[in-house]
Amino acid sequence: MIVAFVLVGAVGAVNVRSSILGGAEATSLSKGSDRDIRAHWPPVPPDASANPLGAPPAQASSSTEFSFIKTVGDGADTHPVAWDPCRPIHLVINDARAPEQGDPLLQEAIAQVTEATGLQFVVDGPTTEAPATDRPPRDTARYGDRWSPVLVAWTDPSAVPHLKGSVAGVAGPDGAPFYTAEQRHWVSGSVNLDGPQLSLILQRPAGWETARAIVMHEFGHLVGLQHVPQPSQLMYASSTNRTDFGRGDREGLRQLGDGHCFTG
Ligand SMILES: [Zn+2]
Repeated sequence: MIVAFVLVGAVGAVNVRSSILGGAEATSLSKGSDRDIRAHWPPVPPDASANPLGAPPAQASSSTEFSFIKTVGDGADTHPVAWDPCRPIHLVINDARAPEQGDPLLQEAIAQVTEATGLQFVVDGPTTEAPATDRPPRDTARYGDRWSPVLVAWTDPSAVPHLKGSVAGVAGPDGAPFYTAEQRHWVSGSVNLDGPQLSLILQRPAGWETARAIVMHEFGHLVGLQHVPQPSQLMYASSTNRTDFGRGDREGLRQLGDGHCFTG
């Protein structure tokens, strides 16, 4: 699943817009028992815990202005496909086209997502891995017997065609193979940011807040949020003056921080 963030208008305009592209769906396995699914997943990593590493905040509103990339269950049992909160989300960063303030921009945006979800992120370090739309969630040759860390790439439209025109970023999670709906969870993903475009945004008045909002929006997709039709939310598909998560965004993020653990 890949989701894009689009900038509209001439340089200097503050409108930013997102669009969504279908991407890597998790593999649905047709045979085998529930228990056998472990054979299709890498070992539980040493930094996993028996309990969630963090906690989302208490429910702060009854807003329904949020949407998930994928849900499972029916009726009152419906819940989002989410990340395992008992293990950190590992990131590697390709800074080939990073703006000068790329690192602190990422740090602030990630801190906002952690605050809203309780999900913990760990930056493993730099990588030269190039962005790819068919990036596998498991790449043993490159990363060993684990889920691939999320690839955060400061890149440009020549490397990532989805960033052509006014698109400022594309992002989305990848799911683990599963037999049953309850086994579905996000285990890897990609965040591709248009470095040259974000450099221009950073030079504008209030550019920091605008650029950070773009990165926050992309990380919202990474943890499982879909676009919403309400411009009052940061997950709206076009930019507004909003530079922080809205009430609906926060309720969606809170639910995404309350996923199942797969560490047992
Ligand atoms: Zn978007």
